[in-house]
Amino acid sequence: MAVKLPIYLDYQATTPIDQRVLEAMMPYLTTHFGNPHSSEHSFGWQTEAVVEIARKQVAELIGAHESEIIFTSGATESNNIAIKGTAYGAYPKRNHIITVKTEHECLLASANSLESSGFDVTYLSISDEGLIDLKELEFVISDKTSLVSVMAVNNEIGTIQNLQRIGEICLSKNVLFHSDAAQAVGKIPLDVDKMNIDIMSISGHKIYGPKGIGALYVRKGTRVIPLFDGGGQEKGLRSGTLSPALCAGIGKACELAGQDMQKDQAHVDELSSLLIDKLSSGLDNASINGGIGKRYFGNLNLKFSGVKSDLLVADLKDIAISTGSACSSAKARSSYVLSALGLSENEIASSVRIGIGRMTTVEEIEYAADHIIKCVKNLL
Ligand SMILES: *Cc1c(COP(=O)(O)O)cnc(C)c1O
Repeated sequence: MAVKLPIYLDYQATTPIDQRVLEAMMPYLTTHFGNPHSSEHSFGWQTEAVVEIARKQVAELIGAHESEIIFTSGATESNNIAIKGTAYGAYPKRNHIITVKTEHECLLASANSLESSGFDVTYLSISDEGLIDLKELEFVISDKTSLVSVMAVNNEIGTIQNLQRIGEICLSKNVLFHSDAAQAVGKIPLDVDKMNIDIMSISGHKIYGPKGIGALYVRKGTRVIPLFDGGGQEKGLRSGTLSPALCAGIGKACELAGQDMQKDQAHVDELSSLLIDKLSSGLDNASINGGIGKRYFGNLNLKFSGVKSDLLVADLKDIAISTGSACSSAKARSSYVLSALGLSENEIASSVRIGIGRMTTVEEIEYAADHIIKCVKNLL
């Protein structure tokens, strides 16, 4: 069977929208156009209703109550509110936050911004498996610490941090726990109560939903200072008119992710095993970056020793893979995540990220593996 080209294998940058998500959105892009904050007529009630259903759908997937979900423009905004909003909420009593060197660019930039305003930030290192040292975390928490922020699944290397243990530590030390779960929600089981997560960031377009919407879980009673001034929507935390269509989209995406999680996981595991098997039998210079014990297999960061990955990516014209995260690749500098993992500049320059998802097929993986092997050999 002929595969349709080009093949998309960059599911960490974004995902295609699921047809069922699009269908859920359509009425709110056409006939149901009311402002969900218009409380005086049925146009508003109709779209308010869908926003509230979406809130429930998001909450259900992560074990939260719908009153603890606010909608934002994406995980970038959610991370900004989570980091700055809680840091300012705890200031001046507490002026220290803890995060990790391998967090998403937008989280590190938020932490940097706090530093320039006088806050102290500790950036934890990771092991060669990609995980933080829990003893070190315990050690650096002080009575000045307000927040610990550790992402769930890393967007570049796919490694999964031990959220449950981190949550236990934060609880015992009485500090807030934030997790950027943009790459984890809907892919691995998450429960904000079981994991003692106080605040958590979600993105629509990483889970087969639309771009331009995200959510923030905020545990009841958590003090967060809003970043926007305005009409006071979303419990005063995020002013601005919501898009009912985008809310319906992220809501449906969450509902589907919950329903299909095991099926998606089995599919992704099968295809990633197939890819790894094919590449390792066809090449002797391929290896996986980061530990393989705790990882999401839909995100494979691979090193092809002796090959320049930018040349490889360019040669693979019909196959969309990347040399790093979409955000940092715009700036053309080498990956700080791979560097934190202990890779040399040379090794980083030989690494690519391959993302597999719900819509990926066996035929696509077979085609991609054959072509990667051919191109790698050509470049050696
Ligand atoms: C994509 C991503 C973000 C940014 O999400 P947007 O919704 O695009 O703003 C943040 N963190 C992680 C881990 C991501 O993968």
